[in-house]
Amino acid sequence: MAKCVMVLYPDPIDGYPPRYARDGIPVIKCYPDGSSLPTPSAIDFKPGEMLGCVSGALGLRKFFEDNGHELVVTSDKDGPDSEFERELPDAEIVISQPFWPAYITRERFAKAPRLRLALTAGIGSDHVDLDEARARGVTVAEETYSNSISVAEHTVMQILALVRNFVPSHRWVIDGGWNIADCVECAYDLEGMDVGVIAAGRIGRAVLERLRPFGVHLHYFDVHRLPADVEKDLNVVYHRDVESLARSVDVVSIHSPLIAQTHHMFDEKLLGSMRRGSYLVNTARAEQTDQRAIVAALQSGQLAGYAGDVWYPQPPPSDHPWRSMPNNAMTPHVSGTTLSAQARYAAGTREILEDWFAGKPIRSEYLIVEGGRFAGTGAKSYAH
Ligand code: NAD
Repeated sequence: MAKCVMVLYPDPIDGYPPRYARDGIPVIKCYPDGSSLPTPSAIDFKPGEMLGCVSGALGLRKFFEDNGHELVVTSDKDGPDSEFERELPDAEIVISQPFWPAYITRERFAKAPRLRLALTAGIGSDHVDLDEARARGVTVAEETYSNSISVAEHTVMQILALVRNFVPSHRWVIDGGWNIADCVECAYDLEGMDVGVIAAGRIGRAVLERLRPFGVHLHYFDVHRLPADVEKDLNVVYHRDVESLARSVDVVSIHSPLIAQTHHMFDEKLLGSMRRGSYLVNTARAEQTDQRAIVAALQSGQLAGYAGDVWYPQPPPSDHPWRSMPNNAMTPHVSGTTLSAQARYAAGTREILEDWFAGKPIRSEYLIVEGGRFAGTGAKSYAH
């Protein structure tokens, strides 16, 4: 019998389950690269249900109980007195989502001597100290591709929201006004602009593909170059470094993992090298930008807008400067946890757990760390 601690975001304030707007979600047959969706032996939820909050328990409560395991589900995750930290000493498995991350720091690893598996429900395992996981032989896994398209769609929405000045225009409607000139004084068409992505992995490439029909000039930088036929098909210009990309475009969208090389990548210097009035969208991880430098660049007009859904820490305090900085179109960390995405990563989490308990190998693309080394997707995206 194993003990699993699951850290999930709180239930909706109007109660659980919510009143759903739709009766289900479309059936997706496979991921864009042809790989299969999660293949658990069964699921105990209806796709389209809210699974990512405490009462949803990722649809896994019955699975744990039927198999005689102990499951603790909580949203109380920060500080030494949190329920998460109190439950850690005898936990074998921890599951959390990047939207409400259970930060598994070195200190917390030390408090969790029995921890063997740190699972991310979703994508992006930087809330786990991966060096410590390797040192302790803890397996880290996530559901690769489960919410990549969800994030790509959110990214395109936020690029358009910034360039077309959507949020202030919407506010005029809510406030009962009709101030056309105020709405359009900084509204542009995306058509004809240079748009670049940093990292053309699953999300970055999906963003490029979705933007191509907008008649923009596409650019990208990645430490792994796309195949020549894909570059040609997308008509995308490759840059050898982030500096070259940043000075060549009007819009940058960040899709790289948070690692030492990308930490504070967009600092005062890089932001200063961009075209005046550039737009920056970050749905990857907040700490790839320097928080203070972003605010200063928006205040000076060097950046015409900043959007994204990732913050540090999460949740951010009520006085976090990004809540009130000018020309922002921020959302909470929601892009990868639509009801559609939840169905996929909940099923993927179950697939991983079924393999784990059966002693079978976890799908290689789900792996970040295994046996003390970066493995699978982790070997490509985190090991530099
Ligand atoms: P992926 O593994 O498919 O792609 C990552 C890409 O980053 C790879 O192509 C890799 O070569 C590239 N890369 C690695 N190091 C780099 C560096 N130093 N500079 C430039 N490129 C580098 O991952 P993905 O599914 O596309 O996800 C990307 C990131 O998006 C994740 O790491 C995660 O942090 C974030 N994410 C956010 C959400 C959300 O809800 N906002 C959801 C999923 C993922």
